[in-house]
Amino acid sequence: DAELRAASGLVREVPDFPEPGVLFRDISPMLADGRALAAVVAALGRGHDFDVVAGVEARGFLLGAAVAQAHGTGVVGLRKPGKLPEVAHRVDYRLEYGSASLELPAGTLRAGQRVLVVDDVLATGGTLNAACELVRSAGSEVAAATVVLELTALGGRNKVPDVALHALLTA
Ligand code: 5GP
Repeated sequence: DAELRAASGLVREVPDFPEPGVLFRDISPMLADGRALAAVVAALGRGHDFDVVAGVEARGFLLGAAVAQAHGTGVVGLRKPGKLPEVAHRVDYRLEYGSASLELPAGTLRAGQRVLVVDDVLATGGTLNAACELVRSAGSEVAAATVVLELTALGGRNKVPDVALHALLTA
């Protein structure tokens, strides 16, 4: 897809963020470009059958809302702790250094719904795995997970072996 290839040129590589030795991929310039955003959003939703989108804070919110709107579904934001007035479920998980949590807002996902999980980057896979656990904790089903960029060397895909995982770009 030529549009996606062009979009991939708008990912900025930032050395030593958020800590020394890490090469951070910043998709902000890609989101800021209208053609790139359209190509990415179309590709994220393509070929999946779902009732609702779940986007992971924070860039997954931007992408997830756009995918949901394009498919006429709703969107749910899976949030970092301390932001929600009422939490339906919470999943704690380990990062390479330290730990993190994701929370599902009350009154959103319902049992039996097929959910498309959307995030920007798949790194070690801990975040995506936690997002999928949250979806299942509500009795919903992970229809598929879709990310813009998969950092293949980190092996994150292995953390979600039972999930239909689609990455638009790999690095
Ligand atoms: P993981 O849990 O797979 O190690 O990390 C993935 C989560 O951290 C995603 O929510 C993603 O937004 C963020 N993340 C990790 N590495 C990067 C990166 O290089 N670029 C961006 N944009 N996000 C990253």
